[in-house]
Amino acid sequence: MVTVSLERLRSRIETLARFGALPGGGVTRPCWSPPHEEARAWLLGELRGAGLEAWVDPAGNVFGGTGARGFRPDAPVVLTGSHIDTVPEGGILDGALGVLAGLEALQTIRERGIPHRRPLAVAAWSDEEGRYGSLFGSRAFCGTLDPALIPRLAAADGERLVDAMARAGFDAARAPEARAPAGAVAAYLELHIEQGPRLEEAGIPIGVVETIVGVRRARVVFHGQADHAGTTPMERRRDAFLAAADFALRAREHVVTRGSGVSVANVGAVHVHPGVSNIVPGRAELVHEMRDPDAGVLERLAAECAALARDVARARRITVEVQPMSATAPAPCSPRVQARIEEACATLGVKWQRLYSAAGHDAQNLAAVTDAGMVFIPSRGGRSHRVDEMSDWDAIERGAGVLLQTLLALAR
Ligand SMILES: [Zn+2]
Repeated sequence: MVTVSLERLRSRIETLARFGALPGGGVTRPCWSPPHEEARAWLLGELRGAGLEAWVDPAGNVFGGTGARGFRPDAPVVLTGSHIDTVPEGGILDGALGVLAGLEALQTIRERGIPHRRPLAVAAWSDEEGRYGSLFGSRAFCGTLDPALIPRLAAADGERLVDAMARAGFDAARAPEARAPAGAVAAYLELHIEQGPRLEEAGIPIGVVETIVGVRRARVVFHGQADHAGTTPMERRRDAFLAAADFALRAREHVVTRGSGVSVANVGAVHVHPGVSNIVPGRAELVHEMRDPDAGVLERLAAECAALARDVARARRITVEVQPMSATAPAPCSPRVQARIEEACATLGVKWQRLYSAAGHDAQNLAAVTDAGMVFIPSRGGRSHRVDEMSDWDAIERGAGVLLQTLLALAR
């Protein structure tokens, strides 16, 4: 049976990890940044060196194809891929694994001359991690990028997408031109680390993703009263921060006790105004994020947490605004693709289990335009979005092998 070269794959993973490498391990490689653009140039060289056709679309997505150069409805492509951007202080596998294992699979197929009826291509989607707009490249490719939104997309530090793209040599206004024609993708398959502990704890080497969670984010803004922090008696204070803190604790409890059992919530961004020690906070803003594989559960929790914010504000004699920021629906993966992955596992003698993805992925956008699926391998210690994110090399080899066999089955 045809197998991938772990040596070549490992060498590429280690080389890509040098772009944006941090002194203590891990990487910071946000999309459009100089290290990302150097990594893009390197990737294009690797794709061409592997004998693939390589191209970049107006949204900055990088592609390498065998039997394909571009996307046409008369020759639907079996597509794999992931992303080469990272979160700040991220790991070396989130995204990189799917792109480089895809490249390795296509190179192996090409070198061995393995026949495949459909063309094959690997993608590196731009700004998956959303420094400017999450899943940006795959949204453009799948036709769900709102052109009116592009001038407003900006990073948390205020840098605008249009400026970042211009610096990298791209015109952001043209990104929607990356949209692929309907019917141009026969199937999409993404290999990724699980980023959680389930596979490792179960001792199961392969996860077959059934659904990708939906994510809701709301900005919750408490308006209290700024006052002198020394002279204002405690009982007179209308402290916006304390309301935000109270809400964060109660919303967590609510999601844990009233969610689906797997619902999760996070408050990862908090701003207190004016933000100095001698003024009682007059305003406190937080971003409340919730995830669940069930759309109905998310809808209900969002309404309940908004009501909770109003209760907290009322009890503390202040006001609150709940501003929905984004809502993605849970994305079911294709039963056909899941079946092909499971057949590949059976052929390779590898155990698998079905699971849902608790993280968002480009595959959720692809699922709206084609049969899409995902293969997970265990994350060491369940760790991800941190510098020590890792998987075992034999797990990486196994995942790449399942990817290769499944791509061949989909392209047959
Ligand atoms: Zn990722």
